[in-house]
Amino acid sequence: MKFSPDRIMVALDVDELGQAHQVAEELRDSGVTFKIGNQLGTYEGWEQAVAFARTAGVGIFCDTKFKDIPATVQKSARAITRHQPDFFNIMADNSPEALHAAVEGIDSAMRDFGLLRRPKLLGVTVLTSIDRETSQAIYGGEPSDKVLQFATNAAQAGLDGVVCSAKEAKLLRNNEETSELLLVTPGIRPEWAAAGDQSRVLTPRQAIEAGADYLVIGRPITQPPSEIGSPRNALDKILQEIGDL
Ligand code: C5P
Repeated sequence: MKFSPDRIMVALDVDELGQAHQVAEELRDSGVTFKIGNQLGTYEGWEQAVAFARTAGVGIFCDTKFKDIPATVQKSARAITRHQPDFFNIMADNSPEALHAAVEGIDSAMRDFGLLRRPKLLGVTVLTSIDRETSQAIYGGEPSDKVLQFATNAAQAGLDGVVCSAKEAKLLRNNEETSELLLVTPGIRPEWAAAGDQSRVLTPRQAIEAGADYLVIGRPITQPPSEIGSPRNALDKILQEIGDL
């Protein structure tokens, strides 16, 4: 089956919408999804940021990363659902009650505002910036064990998917409780792109082969090397390299 461009989530890690215009123009109607960074949503307001991405004709992922007591998570999920993104996220290292509450928040917004577009809810497992030592110190366990634990809680609470490293995709795919979750993976680098501050990287093709459903890709598309050309050229090259997977 042909790979659909909406499975590429282009990270818009800019401070102001003015800085995203050029990339948005380049990728207009390419069919990708824009991941609106928390700093952009916080500064411009999520409503404004969603409206901007909507005009570029792309899918929308609000990187909200909510984490709070259940009642507040419920209200936050309800609030962002009213802006009608395609995806938003919460921290999955929260209590099962809070994860449930987020799903209820979506349900209540859908019902009370007569919305048609139900956003997919993703749970962020263990951030890749957390190494083994830190994971032991704050969670009392290895990162992969904690990813599995948080993803299992996410699945049981009715979340649609999780954000994890592509290195953990196989683990989640092969586990009965988590095998149906959508897997969204950052830390992706085509061979021609600089690794930058990402250390444990996979190519887009490797990540999909490992079981990823969606690839979060920032700088290789938004700031491609000069020999690759424009963001649109970089996207086309990535889609070509993925081929028919
Ligand atoms: O530019 P780059 O491809 O490294 O951007 C990756 C995006 O994915 C950034 O928005 C970054 O915050 C996000 N991310 C990540 N690692 C995670 C979770 C999110 O790099 N574990």
